Amino acid sequence: MHELSIIHSIIETVEATVAEQDAVVEVERVLLQIGDLAGVEVENLEFLWPAAVQGTVLQQAECAVERVEARAVCLDCNGNFALKNYFDACPVCGSFWKEVKTGEELKIKSIELCVQPADAVATATN
Ligand SMILES: [Zn+2]
Repeated sequence: MHELSIIHSIIETVEATVAEQDAVVEVERVLLQIGDLAGVEVENLEFLWPAAVQGTVLQQAECAVERVEARAVCLDCNGNFALKNYFDACPVCGSFWKEVKTGEELKIKSIELCVQPADAVATATN
């Protein structure tokens, strides 16, 4: 249920952002950036999303996920390579000494808000 707690923290962040707005806004889209080494099952997150956002500011929002490929630089031969797991060795020299450059991302890249026109708000409260 790791992915569920991630969704809950996303909801909290987006709710705080919406609360800061002067106008009445709707969340149209949330873009998440998730690295391949972030330990997140994206399929599981997308599966849990619709039920988890029911009754929250994200209920109508689209959830988009941008995957970030994991890449590291070998500390022995300086080669730059893609990796699937933390313990992958350098494909050139076989060294396990490396510095992970990308792939650990787990963040909200953007939140797209849509300001509700005044008359639309009036209709909604009718
Ligand atoms: Zn190497």
